[in-house]
Amino acid sequence: MAVLTPAGRAALADRAEAADRGPDWPGESWAVLQRAGVLRGAVPAEFGGTGLVPTDTLQLGEALAGACLTTAFALSQRDAAVRRLIAGPPHLRGAYLPRLAAGEAFLTVGLSQLTTSRQHGGPALRATPHAGGYRLDGDVPWVTGADHAAAVVTGATLPDGTQLLAVVPTDRPGLTVGPPLDLAALRGSRTAGVRCDGVEVGPADVLAGPAEHVLGRTGGGGLETSALALGLAGAAIDYLRAEAGRRDDLAPVAEKFEAARVGVRGRLHALAGLTAAGDAVLAARAECTRLALRATQAALVAAKGAGFVPPHPVQRWARQALFFLVWSCPRPVSADLLADLTPV
Ligand SMILES: Cc1cc2nc3c(=O)[nH]c(=O)nc-3n(C[C@H](O)[C@H](O)[C@H](O)COP(=O)(O)OP(=O)(O)OC[C@H]3O[C@@H](n4cnc5c(N)ncnc54)[C@H](O)[C@@H]3O)c2cc1C
Repeated sequence: MAVLTPAGRAALADRAEAADRGPDWPGESWAVLQRAGVLRGAVPAEFGGTGLVPTDTLQLGEALAGACLTTAFALSQRDAAVRRLIAGPPHLRGAYLPRLAAGEAFLTVGLSQLTTSRQHGGPALRATPHAGGYRLDGDVPWVTGADHAAAVVTGATLPDGTQLLAVVPTDRPGLTVGPPLDLAALRGSRTAGVRCDGVEVGPADVLAGPAEHVLGRTGGGGLETSALALGLAGAAIDYLRAEAGRRDDLAPVAEKFEAARVGVRGRLHALAGLTAAGDAVLAARAECTRLALRATQAALVAAKGAGFVPPHPVQRWARQALFFLVWSCPRPVSADLLADLTPV
């Protein structure tokens, strides 16, 4: 399994504050991942990857998120594109997967308009049958690393309500990448909106569909997202444990958080590779989010005012934990979290 050495993790952690606050893509951290073989992890061996098993993927995501959530998040979006390609037709697998394994190309996903974004209006991105293929019009509201991507795996809705997944090169005429959004955290992810004005998609670009609910009925909130929340919680828990070494009052708090981390990790790993575990997967997503929120805020209580001042990492972890309230948060997860937050 591709793992980062302690030096590799330290290199990511050293750049984590800049990756979170600054507008620049975390290129040096990405290069660390490439040198460590991490970019090969999600790609099957026949395409030059190492084809990690699901529990290894979760472990890796957790470790990376603990070092630099921005970099771990960018990788998670690339790996989501990889998973869609693996499930797609052979010619698209052959065209993209070897380059992704080698780190020669970055791909990303813009899929939330089919699941968790803009669900209260008409389709944000429309596909109209055209010349044997489709024309895409509208918005892909959230695309991480859009201006670094050779192509975006995206999804559009047809006039009959069915949905299509396609891989669309970013230099396709009519596709415009917007400026990076001014995010509350993870700014280096350069998440942006993408506009499509008559973007032509041929049959060779289609990954799946047209079909109803082409991403499944829920969409989002998978174990990989939970592993990142757990990794962020872990950074705060490690901090609490270190502080507890010299502050007796923190010892029981740190112990309880550590026990929670071990318990949640066990449940996540038990779910990896299981099929039809939908409700349990979403419950785990909510549980990891709660742990990330609580652990980072407990760390802030312990770090006090000093922890509120950058570059102290605790303020960053606490801000980043909020990300899990909005990213890849399907309705059952947001309902669970809201119930928790609502006074009784
Ligand atoms: C930093 C970041 C990076 C992301 N990266 C990616 C990515 O790479 N790929 C990807 O596919 N997704 C990505 N996402 C999208 C994410 O997974 C969610 O889809 C997104 O956060 C949902 O928020 P939204 O504002 O689009 O939701 P919306 O549901 O569109 O809500 C927007 C606004 O609409 C209003 N509204 C919402 N619901 C209703 C309603 N029922 N009735 C009336 N008004 C309503 C509210 O005022 C709300 O503020 C990213 C999100 C973030 C924050």
